[in-house]
Amino acid sequence: MQITNYALTIDMDFRKLKFSGRVRIKLRSEHDVVLNSVGLDIQSITLGEKQVDFKQSGEELIVQTGPFDGILEVNYTGTITDSLVGIYRAPYDHSQIVTTHFEAAQARRMLPCVDRPDVKAEFRIAVKIDKELTAISNMPIESVVPDGERKLVIFQNTPRMSTYLLYLGVGKFEEQTEKLGKTDVTVATTPGKVKLCGFSQEEAKKAIDFFESYYAIPYELPKIHLIAVPEFAMGAMENWGAITFRESALLVDANTSTRTRKRVAEIVDHELAHQWFGNLVTMKWWDDIWLSESFATFMASKVIDSLHPDWRVWEDFVRNETAGAMERDCLKRTHPIQVPVKSPDEIEQIFDQISYGKGASILRMIEAYLGQDAFKKGIRQYLSNHAYSNATGDELWNTLETTSNKKVQEIMSGWIQQPGYPMLTVEAREGKLVLHQERFLISGDSEKGVWPMPITLEINGNSHSILMDSSEQIVDTGSPIKSLKANLDRTGFYLVRYVGSEDLVWNSRLSAIDQWGIVFDAFAFLLSGKMAFPDYMKLLNRFITGVEYLPIHEISDQLSFLNTIARQRIFDFSRTFHRSQLDLLREKTDENALVLREAVSNRLTLIDDAYSRELATKFRDYDTVPPDLKQAVALAYARSTEDYDSLLAAYRKSNSDEDKIRLLTAMTAFTNASLVNQTLNFSLTTEVKRQDTRLILVTATWNPDAQNIAWKWLQTNIGKLEERYEGTGILSGTFLSIIPILGIGRVEEMKAFFTERKIPDSEVGISAGLEKLLVYDRLARSLA
Ligand SMILES: [Zn+2]
Repeated sequence: MQITNYALTIDMDFRKLKFSGRVRIKLRSEHDVVLNSVGLDIQSITLGEKQVDFKQSGEELIVQTGPFDGILEVNYTGTITDSLVGIYRAPYDHSQIVTTHFEAAQARRMLPCVDRPDVKAEFRIAVKIDKELTAISNMPIESVVPDGERKLVIFQNTPRMSTYLLYLGVGKFEEQTEKLGKTDVTVATTPGKVKLCGFSQEEAKKAIDFFESYYAIPYELPKIHLIAVPEFAMGAMENWGAITFRESALLVDANTSTRTRKRVAEIVDHELAHQWFGNLVTMKWWDDIWLSESFATFMASKVIDSLHPDWRVWEDFVRNETAGAMERDCLKRTHPIQVPVKSPDEIEQIFDQISYGKGASILRMIEAYLGQDAFKKGIRQYLSNHAYSNATGDELWNTLETTSNKKVQEIMSGWIQQPGYPMLTVEAREGKLVLHQERFLISGDSEKGVWPMPITLEINGNSHSILMDSSEQIVDTGSPIKSLKANLDRTGFYLVRYVGSEDLVWNSRLSAIDQWGIVFDAFAFLLSGKMAFPDYMKLLNRFITGVEYLPIHEISDQLSFLNTIARQRIFDFSRTFHRSQLDLLREKTDENALVLREAVSNRLTLIDDAYSRELATKFRDYDTVPPDLKQAVALAYARSTEDYDSLLAAYRKSNSDEDKIRLLTAMTAFTNASLVNQTLNFSLTTEVKRQDTRLILVTATWNPDAQNIAWKWLQTNIGKLEERYEGTGILSGTFLSIIPILGIGRVEEMKAFFTERKIPDSEVGISAGLEKLLVYDRLARSLA
C-alpha cells in the first residue's frame, strides 16, 4: 500500500475532552485497506460518495475496498484521555493543555492511519477549537478561519514523514520566537513560564547551527517549537518541528542546579539531532530504533563537546551511557542491540539502556576506530541518500565501509547481534602480553564469547591498536613492560582485568576516564565475585585525596549503593571519604565541581548526623539557599527533624518542578519509615504529577530505613502504578531498578509475588530485576 497524503480535520471539545475527526487518505492499494485505530469510534468510511463496510479486529481497521486507488474518507469520534500517551490532557494549576505523544505506535489513538515508521506521507492538519485557545503542530499555521466563538486553524502541509512524529497541542500557550536564518526557533510554555526558556532557546539555536554544518544538510522546516508540557511520561520527544519536553527538561531559572542545566542542554541537543537522524531519515522498522536513539545520544555529546568544552562531556558520557548500558547488559536476561520487534508492547520495552547507551557507546567505539572524518563523511552520505525516506542499520554500515575502507559491517554485526559484552584479561608474561576475551556476566558465571574488538593499549608509553577477533591473542612487546594500560579513554565497550600486571597500570599516565575505568571495573568484579572486598577497599583508598570529577563521582555512587545494602561495613569509610572530598571541593569553582559537590553533600546528609544537623538550619531560608545545595538542605532537614509538614508546605508553595522533586526526594529520606509511607501515598494524589510517582518510589527504595515499608507499599499499590503508566513502558525500567534493592533478604518472597502477579508490559524489567537481585543479595550477605 502506498499513501500520498492525509488531510485531517479535528473538531475538539476542549472542555468535555472529546473530539470528532475526519481524515481523507489518498492512497493506492492492491487489496482491502488495513488501517490502525485504537479507542476511536468509527462512524462511517466512504470512497467518493459510496459507503464501504469495515470491521475492527484488535488494533486493525479492515476496510472492504478491494484493490483501490483514490481517496478514502473516515469519520470518527474519540476521547482525550487521562493517560500519558496518544492524545491526552496534561493538567496544570487549575487549567490544562491537550497534547500528543505517539511514539511508538500511538498515532492511531488520534486518527486511523497506517501507523508504521516506513509508511511515510504528507499530512495536512486542521483543528477546530475555541477562539481563545492556541494550537501547535509540526508545521506553521497557514491560515485561521474564524467561526463565531470558534476558529479553524489550518497548518501548512508537512513533508513526507512517519506517523509517530506527528504532533498536536492545544491550550493557552505563551510563546517566544527567535530567528535563526530562515528558521523560527520558538519556545512555548503554559502562561508565565516562557521567561524560563532563554537557556534552552540559546542552546537550540547553537545546536541547529552545529548540526547543519555537521550533517551538511540545512534544517528544512520553516520553524521548530520547543514545547514545555506540564505532564509528560518521557524526558522529551522529537516530533518533527514540534519537540515536546517535560518542564524540568526545558525550563531553567536561578534555582536550577548545575546538574540539571547540563541535563537540559543534553536533552535539547539530543532531540535536535533527531530532526535529521530519525525524522528526515527514519528506520525502516522498530528493530533499528536503537540506531536512531543511540545516534542522537552520541551526537548530543558531540554538540556539548563543541559548545561547552569545560563540561568535559565524554566523562559524563562514559559514566551515564557506557556504564548504564554495561550495568544492564551484564545480566543473562539482556538482549542484543538489534532485536526482532512485533507488537507495540515489545517496542516500548526496548527503549532502554541497551538501545540508548550501548548503541551510543558502540558508535563512539566505531568512530574512534574509523577516525572522525571518515565517520562524518559516511553519515552525510547516508542522510543525503535516504532523505524523506527510510533506511536500515546495514545501509549505514555499508556507507561507512565505503568512506573508511575498513571492515565496518563485520565489526558492527558482532556487536549488534550478540547480547552482552566481553571482559578483556591482560596478562603480562616476560616481554609478552597475553590477551584473552570472554563474556562478562555479573553472576560470576563464565561464558565463552568472541567480539570483534578494536583494542587500544599503551605499553611503556607507546600506543598500539589491534583488532582482536579471536578469544586469545599474544602481543610481543619486545622489551620488559614497565607501564601498561588498556582500553584508552574507554572507547571500547569492554572491561579490563589485569592479571599479574595490576601494578603496572599505576605507572601509566591515567586520564580521568582511565581512572574511572579502573574503579568502574573493580566494582563489577566485586559484584561478580572476581575481586575480594579488602582489595576493592584498597583501591578506593588510593582516591581518598583524589580530585578528579569523574572517578570521585563514581566512587561516591558506589559508596552510596553500598550504604543501601551493607551500611555497617562501609559507613566509616564513606563518611571519611565524603568529608575529605567536601573539603577538597571548597577550592574548586568549575561547573563539574559544583555537580560533584551537590552529590557529595547529598550523600553526607545520609551518613553524617552532625553535618546534617548543621545544614538543616538553612531550611528556614530555603528560598535563598544556592541551587546546588538545595537538595542537601532538604535532605538534611528531613533526616534531622522528621518534620513532614514543613516539607509538604514548602512543596505546595514551590512552582518549580525541579524544586518539587527535591522536596519529594527529601520526603522519602526520613528515618521514620511511616513518614515515608505517607509520602508514597501522597505521590498518588493529584498534587503530584503522574510522571513523578515512579521517582518517589525509586528514591524511597534507596533509603535503608524505608525498604520494608516501600516493599509493602508496592505490593498494595501495584495496580495503581500499572494503570498510571499504561502504554509508556516506564514501569519495566522502574522494576529493574527497585527489585534488586527491595528484594534483598527476601528473595523467595519477591519471586513468589511476581510469579503470582503478572504485569505483561513489564515482564522484561521484572525478570532482569530478579536476576540482579540474586547478585545484590549475595553481596549483602557476604558483607553482613
Ligand atoms: Zn531520542
